[in-house]
Amino acid sequence: MPVTASVLYNFVHCPKRVALDDFGDQSRRDPLNPFVRLLWERGTLYEREVIADVDRPYLDLSAHERRDRERLTLEAMRRGEPLIYSGFIAVDDLVGAPDLLRKEVGGYVPGDIKSGAGEEGGGDDTDGKPKLHYAVQLALYVDILERLGLSAGRRAFVWDIHGDEVPYDFTSPQGPKKPETLWDEYQSALADTRAILDRTLTPQGASSSTCKLCHWHNFCSDDLAKADDLTLIPFLGRSVRDSMQTSIATIAELAAIDPEGFIDGKKTVFKGLGPDRLRLFHDRAVLLKSADPRPYLRAPVALRMPHIELFFDIEVDPMRDLCYLHGVVERQGGSNESERFVHFFAEDVSPDAERAAFASAVAYFAARPDAAIYYYSKYERTIYRKLQAKYDDVCSAEDIERLFDPSRAIDLYGDVVLKATEWPTRDHSIKTLAKYLGFKWRDTHPSGAASIEWFDRWCRDRSTETKQRILDYNEDDCRATRVLLDGIRALA
Ligand code: SF4
Repeated sequence: MPVTASVLYNFVHCPKRVALDDFGDQSRRDPLNPFVRLLWERGTLYEREVIADVDRPYLDLSAHERRDRERLTLEAMRRGEPLIYSGFIAVDDLVGAPDLLRKEVGGYVPGDIKSGAGEEGGGDDTDGKPKLHYAVQLALYVDILERLGLSAGRRAFVWDIHGDEVPYDFTSPQGPKKPETLWDEYQSALADTRAILDRTLTPQGASSSTCKLCHWHNFCSDDLAKADDLTLIPFLGRSVRDSMQTSIATIAELAAIDPEGFIDGKKTVFKGLGPDRLRLFHDRAVLLKSADPRPYLRAPVALRMPHIELFFDIEVDPMRDLCYLHGVVERQGGSNESERFVHFFAEDVSPDAERAAFASAVAYFAARPDAAIYYYSKYERTIYRKLQAKYDDVCSAEDIERLFDPSRAIDLYGDVVLKATEWPTRDHSIKTLAKYLGFKWRDTHPSGAASIEWFDRWCRDRSTETKQRILDYNEDDCRATRVLLDGIRALA
């Protein structure tokens, strides 16, 4: 079975998916997630826009059938075309379709056009890191070129969403603590992928954030639940599960151990797992397996109760780089009867509309200086800092820091749920915890990803129903934050 770039991409996200895509019962796949479809469409659109703007001559092979493309790509490289778009290369069991092949000294360097950032992490003062799922795809192209005797060296590039060319170097160590090169990572991914395709390696699934958009989500949820898999414990991921598995295979087994028996000083017998985390996971296993599992406080929480409480949530389209909605559920005097939903919507896909919504939201908060603000995760603060930098006439950076000062604004996720509470659930998302507390979203498929897809639809059809669906979803998210706050207060 050929190894393609998309198989390697899937392998990096989840080896189990490679096996299921090839040998799984295809009738048990979930329908394609509309958000995933949107990502594909946006990716294709972005690639077309970028290629239409290229200001140097290039050979475009995109209109040709696949079998002709392979021949035409080889002929083009042999005659030294400076830039080839949409080529197709293959050798042995490796098959690749790099967006770009660029002639450099000694041969060709492959590149991809990506509708995402070329690197991950990094900040104002730090560099980002190459994305492993991009790296393995690009390395596959380099490998094919090498085997064909047409490579200019072990390097590649990404033209990313910011219009930058991000180089990928496969020969240098990844860092002082990580001597392996990206080429080593590729070789290891290639060997394991081949073993999965040959059925000599049977990979296990693992519950992770990747699962939410995967078309095997329902299948794997059942499978992992039946196996009582350790990754169903919040924050216990694949690598820790794998290192624990020979001694402790299930949540029930973890609940039954004495963790101190696996701890030696500042270490545990499990690679990559320290004593505190082992004790934490053990507590979670005990909770999940108890006869009457109930949430509890790990540490005291002090949540003041001012007259006005604002439950705040934003919606962002990362592909348009646009914050399109700021929603707030406002409650007075602790009475749910007093609740009202206030929202600021970008009525257009333009910087002016985004700025206007941001300015209105900032003015709204400024008019309620004594209100407490509750939000879920640092995302809102990150986006407000970005918006302030983009529209610095709206308010100052200090205004944003004051708005999110912990004396005024509480990140319920980072500052309360993670630090001080335990829940008998598989994760700590607002959806999971509010649903556990009995809250119901009006929409049958609520998610941030779905909201982005609805917004994309609204941009095209401007339908009032679609807009209302977006608003209702945001309002329910704000109200869920209130339900969670009240639930935590009740625990206290
Ligand atoms: S649902 Fe999760 S575990 Fe299953 S194949 Fe997809 S990503 Fe892997």
